[in-house]
This record gives sequence, structure tokens and C-alpha cells, in this order.
Amino acid sequence: MTRQHDPEDLDPTAVAREGSARSATRPDAVEAAVSAADDDARTVADRVNDPERIRGLITAYRQEHAVPDGPAAGTRAARAGGSRELDLVVRGRRILTTAGIVAREIGVRDGTVVAIEPLGAGLPARTLVELADDEVLLPGLVDTHVHINEPGRTTWEGFASATRAAAAGGVTTLVDMPLNSIPATVNAPALEYKRLFADGQVFVDVGFWGGAVPGNAPHLRALHDDGVFGFKCFLLHSGVDEFPHLEADELEQDLAVLRSFDSLMIVHAEDSRAIDRAPHPRGDVYASFLASRPRGAESLAIAEVIERARWTGAKAHLLHLSSSDALPMIATAKRDGVDLTVETCPHYLTLLAEEVPDGATAFKCCPPVREASNREALWDGLLDGTIDFVVSDHSPSTLDLKDLENGDFGVAWGGISSLQLGLSLIWTEARKRGVGLERVVDWMATRPAKRVGLRSKGSIALGHDADLAVFAPDDAFVVDAGKLHHKNPITPYQGRALSGRVRRTYLRGEAVDLDGTPHGRLLRRGEA
Ligand SMILES: [Zn+2]
Repeated sequence: MTRQHDPEDLDPTAVAREGSARSATRPDAVEAAVSAADDDARTVADRVNDPERIRGLITAYRQEHAVPDGPAAGTRAARAGGSRELDLVVRGRRILTTAGIVAREIGVRDGTVVAIEPLGAGLPARTLVELADDEVLLPGLVDTHVHINEPGRTTWEGFASATRAAAAGGVTTLVDMPLNSIPATVNAPALEYKRLFADGQVFVDVGFWGGAVPGNAPHLRALHDDGVFGFKCFLLHSGVDEFPHLEADELEQDLAVLRSFDSLMIVHAEDSRAIDRAPHPRGDVYASFLASRPRGAESLAIAEVIERARWTGAKAHLLHLSSSDALPMIATAKRDGVDLTVETCPHYLTLLAEEVPDGATAFKCCPPVREASNREALWDGLLDGTIDFVVSDHSPSTLDLKDLENGDFGVAWGGISSLQLGLSLIWTEARKRGVGLERVVDWMATRPAKRVGLRSKGSIALGHDADLAVFAPDDAFVVDAGKLHHKNPITPYQGRALSGRVRRTYLRGEAVDLDGTPHGRLLRRGEA
């Protein structure tokens, strides 16, 4: 039985619901149906992501929106003229530079930090900003794990809403994931098509990941040349049929391809077989969902990634580490010289499985939020450097897909919305542990920028983009999902009291106006 989806008529909501459920389904339920479904999934992917089909969509989009031919760059020409006057000077007692938190004046011209002087130097500027005594100037955060979902699932999230949320949370650069949008970003036309939608809509700078799926190895080089920051793959059902997962041997083949042009493979590491054999999640009790995503599934897949990276010499990155069980083997691999980095997310560092209320599907994500002891071990891994950085994995859906009425963890879409809250979440938890703001910013700005090759982002330094966040670390607030800027008003942090608030954000020296014109750029690897 092979169903033929017409991509034009594809109902993304139905596809996602089906995928989300099946990704945690036991094989003994209907083994034949699963393999038929796999064939079907491949068909959906091939048709939805067909380059010829997408070229037709691009032509139609350009005609309909009167967009001229040529790449959608989202760039502005640098301002002409070599005026000596600075455009912006920020003065403050607490400015986080590469020398730590110090009293400084930061001078900005044409979007770039061109002066860092001791406070009192009196740098002249067209616009002068004096920080209040309770404010710290931070580099804008760099969030390399965001699902924007446009085009195709724009009801879940979109470029305007996601980048507003980012800016409000002090994130000035994000990198968009290749899946959940339709088409998936698995070939050059799909990237071009996505850029058409993003162009002119982004309030912060946005880069793109490509996708590695079965059969698209011939497209990887072109995507790389078009400026993606690396490639994402899954080792189990991704949740959407148009983004099929790789088997371990396919992962290795793609790693070898990526190695040939020094690109980075980022991996959702849960083992398909281990998830298939685990109990099926049912009902509104979180423990049932947790049991369906065992730690061993992460351990198996991570071991596979480590060895394939070792064998090929390619660069690999583990996404959203949830299980602390994997920390020792990650530490060993790094000691061995495997080119491996690891991220975790605010939800794994702040939430606890023991505290998830019945039916609270806002907390559902894959891999799952685990127990208190696991959370503590993840903090240890972060502090000792086994875990490299912290990014949101902001992965929203519509409220409908969260199955709020029944609160069934087996049915609800897995993904947590948190883009605007990351800094406050991590800062709230860090200060309780006596961890300074410098380390938090290192995890959330400097290190992710470095790993993806964003040389002018992630710190306040001469020659860097003047991407800045004015942060009040002692402000407190209570999360109200309805007041967050991301599209669908749901978050597991609803009602939570947090420390630290972003008061203003600057993108390349300009204050971001969430009600004004978006000035973000679409980034290409190597150009920022
Ligand atoms: Zn994700």
C-alpha cells in the first residue's frame, strides 16, 4: 500500500501529527505497515523536496511578489563615507568584553565595534547611550538551534515572529534548522526558496543549516557553496515525513563528503531501534513518555556518531544532549582528538521530569527532560567543558498539535518554545549555583559563534559586529506566554519567576525596534 501525496495538497499538520506519533511507535504493532510507511516517507520527501518543483515555486513566488532575479541577500550596503565621528557610543560600568566585565566606552561605526576605551575617555558620537547602574552590556547571543518553519508551516512559527522573540531575548544571530519548513532545506533551490521568504522579515541576523537526508549527498556541496553553516541529520524518524533519517552507514558516507569541504554535521542522536523497542507513550502521565525515550537510545546513537566521526575525521556536533549517561564517552572522544562538540538546552538545565504536571504537553520534547540527578550531571558537564554550549532548540507548533485538550504525550507534537527566555532561564539557574554571567555568555554567544564560524559575532571586541544586549541581571519577572513574541502562546515556563531581563538589543549598532522595519541580514557562512 503506497499512498501518493500530492505535495501541492500536502497537509503539513496531518503529516506532522502522523510523524510525531509514529516516531515513537513500536515496530511490533504493525511491522509491515512501518516498512510500507518508510517507503511512503521516502516518496513524500522526494516529491516535496524535488528541486525542479521548487524551481517552479521560486519562479511563481518572484512573479507574484515582483521580486527581481538574483539571490535574496537581505543585506544592506555599508554606509558610504569615512566620517571619523562614531555612530554610537555605549558607556557603562559593566561591559562584558573579552577582558571580562569592565568599565568601558564602546564606539561603533558602520555597524562595527571600532573603539573600546576606558570609561571616562569621552568618545564623541552621534548617539550616546549611558548604561544605568543596574545594567550590563553583553554581546548579542548566538542561537544556532531554532526551527522557524517558514515556508510551509508558517502557522507554527515564522521569520518575523521568531526573530522578534529572539531580539527581545537578547539573541542577535540565529541559525535556522532545515526541517519543519516545506520544502526541507536539502538542496540549493530549497535554500533559495526559504531565503525569499526570510528576506525583509528578519529583526536579527539569520543563517541557515542544510539537511542531510537519504539520497541528497550530491546536493551537499552546492548547499555548502551557497552558504549553509553545516548539515543536520537524524538517526531516527524526524517527526516529519519530508525529512527522512539516515542510517549509520549513510551518516558515515555523508561525513566523508562533508570532510572534503570541511563542513560540520550536526546530529539528532537517538537510536531508532532503541526507541522502537521502548514502551509506547500513552496518556497524560509524563513518566510514560519518559520511559519511551530511554537514555540508552541516546547512548547508542552518540557512540555511533563518535565512531563514525573518528573514522572519517569529519567535524560532528551533538544536538540537544539530554542524557548525562553519555558524558563520559563524549569526554573520552574529545580527549582522543575526535572533532566533536556538544550542546544542551535550557529545558534540560532548568526543568525536572519529577515536576512535569499530568497532561502538560508544553514540556514534551525529544529527547525528553529527565530527572533531577540527570540535570545536576548536565550542569557538571557544562561546567567542566564536556558540554560546549547552550542553545534553545526552539521548536514550536500550533496549540492544536500540542493536544492540549487531552494532554496525551503520545500524540502531542514534541518541541519546546523558549527562544525569548534562554538568557533569563540560564542566568536564573546559574546565579543560584554561583556561576557568573561571563560563563553564561560564553555558553550562549561566544562558543556557538565560534563552532559555526561566525567570526564577527559572539563577543564585544574590536572589528566585531556591534550586536549588543542591555541586560539587567537583577530584574525579576514572571513568564506570561501571551506576552512572548513567538507565534503560538505556549511555553513550559508559563508562570515561572525568572531573574534577569533584556531591556534593549542592538543589531550592528542600531537599536532593534520590534514595531519598526526589520534590519536583519541573511548570513552566509564565511561572510559574518
Ligand atoms: Zn531541534
